[in-house]
Amino acid sequence: MTHQLPTLGYDYRALEPYIDARTMEIHYSKHHKTYVDKLNAALENHPALQKKTAVELVVNLNSLPDSIQGAVRNHGGGHVNHSFFWTILKKDVAFKGEIAEAIKKEFGSFDEFKKQFSEKANTLFGSGWAWLVVNRSKKLEIIQTQNQETPLRNGFTPILGIDVWEHAYYLKYQNKRAEYVDAFFNVIDWKKVNEYYVKAKN
Ligand code: MN
Repeated sequence: MTHQLPTLGYDYRALEPYIDARTMEIHYSKHHKTYVDKLNAALENHPALQKKTAVELVVNLNSLPDSIQGAVRNHGGGHVNHSFFWTILKKDVAFKGEIAEAIKKEFGSFDEFKKQFSEKANTLFGSGWAWLVVNRSKKLEIIQTQNQETPLRNGFTPILGIDVWEHAYYLKYQNKRAEYVDAFFNVIDWKKVNEYYVKAKN
């Protein structure tokens, strides 16, 4: 199986003004595509591994040949993380459903959740992600991962994530990551996050 760039499913302008079209275009068609291309290149001489999904590869990273572990961690992880990320972005979706109730129960209020999630996103040093995950006890938790590490490797199921690599925001926000993180709350597809939550907790 050759890994492929998934369909974005919406226009590059769909998240304006919070995430600008140029950033979306470069992020999706260049950065994500490079992860896919480099994952395929790493698997070129490993036909048996080409049959596995990207998620299977990154979750079972330690069972792979040493020579490709780094490439799969970075590029397989990048492919998995971005494929997920595009699906949870949409403007004007109301915060409601089981996930809204669960967030209020776990964090006390939406504002408190926003504060804690933003803090994790803003304090991630270097490149990486902040995530809202369902942990092994089926509870909500906010975590960080470095570079393209995926929460899936540690038994967490991501239901929401923010890419805080500079390539995700630098054109519009430059060094002001906190402004990007704040704007991100306008483009969360809570309906999709709710779907992921319901699936993960059952
Ligand atoms: Mn990215």
